[in-house]
Amino acid sequence: MYVRGPCSVISMPKTRNAKSTPSRPRADLAVIGGSGLYAMEGLERVREARVSTPFGRPSDAVVLGVLAGRRVAFLARHGRGHRISPSMINYRANIYALKSLGVTRIFSVSAVGSMKEHIHPGHLALPDSFLDRTTKRASTFFDQGLVAHVAFADPVCPVLTAQLAEAARALGVMCHEGGAYLCMEGPQFSTRAESRLYRHWGVDMIGMTNATEAKLAREAEICYATMALVTDYDCWHESESAVSVEGVLAIMRRNVEQAKKMLRHVIRQPTPPVACACPTALRGAILTAPEAMTASVKRRYRLFLKAPPAGASNGRA
Ligand SMILES: [Zn+2]
Repeated sequence: MYVRGPCSVISMPKTRNAKSTPSRPRADLAVIGGSGLYAMEGLERVREARVSTPFGRPSDAVVLGVLAGRRVAFLARHGRGHRISPSMINYRANIYALKSLGVTRIFSVSAVGSMKEHIHPGHLALPDSFLDRTTKRASTFFDQGLVAHVAFADPVCPVLTAQLAEAARALGVMCHEGGAYLCMEGPQFSTRAESRLYRHWGVDMIGMTNATEAKLAREAEICYATMALVTDYDCWHESESAVSVEGVLAIMRRNVEQAKKMLRHVIRQPTPPVACACPTALRGAILTAPEAMTASVKRRYRLFLKAPPAGASNGRA
């Protein structure tokens, strides 16, 4: 069904019928925008896809368009208007919706607090690891009749992260490469005791969303990299005032502009060759025997089951 408006709105049918959709929009590359980044400027031939998934509804319609000749998808993590809190985001539907549209690479943009003196508010950071302290959200697709254990030692895609680092150097953006991102449940910010503890653990930044997205992107065999926008020093810093929404928003407006420049730079670059294990993360990771999968399980995991079946030898549980 097509609805005319400022741009075309495409209601995607249930995924099992998706192949028959006329003029099905596709995109290889996606941007998930967090706090402060609710739209991608410069997209042409814009359409919106409202995607139904076996995991529920995504945060918003996926906006599809063309930028520098490349098909790009954009999804507002919290929904346009910032309606959905970190705990209530349907991360599974978001990642599944992008996968169903053909996305193989996700650049994630999100605000973080700095846990290190030298990572100043206003800087950007490219974490290469996560510490997941969330408790209230689904962080795996594989919870109903299908068991899979993907490798997650290196949770972000090295190829995409290198592209972001190159963009930062080319544009003269202050960007820290590497570091551990602690993902807290929120929505409250940390207590001072928590903040001091996390610093003792050696983490570099703190946020509320990206570990969950990274886990699901890996299970979906999508390359995923985080562009973290540093907005504050959490509340551990002795001479800087504790984090507040007002302070975060003021800094965020400035570094969202830098993030947009970096994304436009990356999107204009040629697609790098596949030199990572993300697209084959499920190879040998599904332990459930095909004959033990019900028809409904096969439907639910249709997009995941092209991977070669079980290699039971790598099971741990
Ligand atoms: Zn990758």
